[in-house]
Amino acid sequence: MSNFRWGVGSKTKLSNAHYILQKLADKALEISKQDLKVICSFRNEHDQNKAFAEKKSKLKWPKSKHNCYPSEAIDVVPLPLDWNNIAPFEEMIECFEEAWELLDEDITQGWIMQVGADFSWRDYPHIQIVRKHKND
Ligand SMILES: [Zn+2]
Repeated sequence: MSNFRWGVGSKTKLSNAHYILQKLADKALEISKQDLKVICSFRNEHDQNKAFAEKKSKLKWPKSKHNCYPSEAIDVVPLPLDWNNIAPFEEMIECFEEAWELLDEDITQGWIMQVGADFSWRDYPHIQIVRKHKND
């Protein structure tokens, strides 16, 4: 049973993300005990270089997972948003990890999910999918 529904802005952003991320985000929201919002999916060249300049991204165009279309990364935040409180972000990330396991293997096959919280610079909203190498 889903407690929450994506807002219009989140829906629009998700529509520009890879379908695996769409399925994943829907499942995460379904099991989430807090409301979530998608704040970023695809970033064009201007937006990516702006994010880099503002130190919101470590990467210049076109190196980010946000720069392919549909995007292979989304940024999601828990609501109500408080950047200084990490616990709701950690709870959200757990939902995404659980959601990934719940997705049909036909959907996730060949891909792995990575969370920005595991990056050295702790990018808590960032969720990305990466193609598995053939030999893995
Ligand atoms: Zn991101």
